[in-house]
Amino acid sequence: MAEAQSTGGASGKMVIRNIGLLLSGDLERPILDADTIVVDNGRIAAVGKAKSLDASGAKVEVDVKGTVIAPGLIDSHVHPVFGDWTPRQSQLNWIDSFLNGGVTTMISAGEVHLPGRPRDVLGVKALAITAQRAFDAFRPGGMKVHAGAPVIEKGMVEEDFKELAAAGVKLLGEVGLGGVKTGDEAKRMVGWARKYGIQSTIHTGGPSIPGSGLIDKDVVLEADADVIGHINGGHTALPLDQIRCLCEQCKRAIEIVHNGNEKAALFAMRTARELGELNRVILGTDSPAGSGVQPLGILRMIAMLSSLGDVPAEQAFCFATGNTARMRKLDSGLIEVGLAADFVQLDKAQHSAGKDMLESVRMGDIPGLGMVIIDGQIRCGRSRNTPPAETVAEAKSH
Ligand SMILES: [Zn+2]
Repeated sequence: MAEAQSTGGASGKMVIRNIGLLLSGDLERPILDADTIVVDNGRIAAVGKAKSLDASGAKVEVDVKGTVIAPGLIDSHVHPVFGDWTPRQSQLNWIDSFLNGGVTTMISAGEVHLPGRPRDVLGVKALAITAQRAFDAFRPGGMKVHAGAPVIEKGMVEEDFKELAAAGVKLLGEVGLGGVKTGDEAKRMVGWARKYGIQSTIHTGGPSIPGSGLIDKDVVLEADADVIGHINGGHTALPLDQIRCLCEQCKRAIEIVHNGNEKAALFAMRTARELGELNRVILGTDSPAGSGVQPLGILRMIAMLSSLGDVPAEQAFCFATGNTARMRKLDSGLIEVGLAADFVQLDKAQHSAGKDMLESVRMGDIPGLGMVIIDGQIRCGRSRNTPPAETVAEAKSH
């Protein structure tokens, strides 16, 4: 297990060559005209055509063999607890399974499944700080887990948010999963969080499990959290007219999750498109949850939104990469010089009817994954979870 716990970036140079299709993560320009990426010390150092880049002196060379490189996928909505274990479904190594589904960064929407989760203010703060510290120091398979997301409870005061921020907490768990369920109370605490640089997400829709409650559009609008968490419900969605209203009136991120209502997911995405605001759409799994753990959940969302929602596949990939990275202020998710070298190598799955990876996704198939790189280090080869990619990348060390 020592290897799975390795942290930090690679030193030295890596060259990724023979890229057939380079997805950028940027909705404005989802496909880049480049076949080579040079990585130095875990960061993207150059992107372009092989003949115009200095690829000499590379310690590691990755031959992509004409297939696809995309930014590592980001799951905007997970519920980790401690380690690579989830008590919700008593499952081990779920984070490593997501790595094999192309996810390189996860954002906690609250460590809500901890058995006996504290509800008193001191306990809420202690848990958040502990989770932030623990996942900062422990990266299963290299996965970046941004955790330590306190679920706000009645009685919290401004000083609590100041203290959390000073301790390194950067996220609030889903507003509405704790004792704070009214718009005015939520608005006050979300405002304090924002004041100290803590980003917030609100639960949207019916209760997810016994103990949580309904959060309707009026509460979401009044609370004004940074992310309209699972706008398609987790699982129970609001009526579609309320979802439209949220897309139109709340200018925050529109988060669509795997463990939600799929009809509502398509409706939210189409409404964002009508508004010309697809850049607000971000994706999560909302897992582990009652419906389990979905290692391929982000790839499945991309295929579902592209095929049933008629979105070009290269745009759907942006929902799970650049859109989320910008919204969450991450240093990854886009193919840009200076950002973290987090990549996935993809190809169409064997025997997909699509002629290439993008067409296969457009037809509703999920792609095969051949390699995951995080911070310039190869973290897995051919995925143990996706259908097999037709072609996988090969690496050579010098
Ligand atoms: Zn929720």
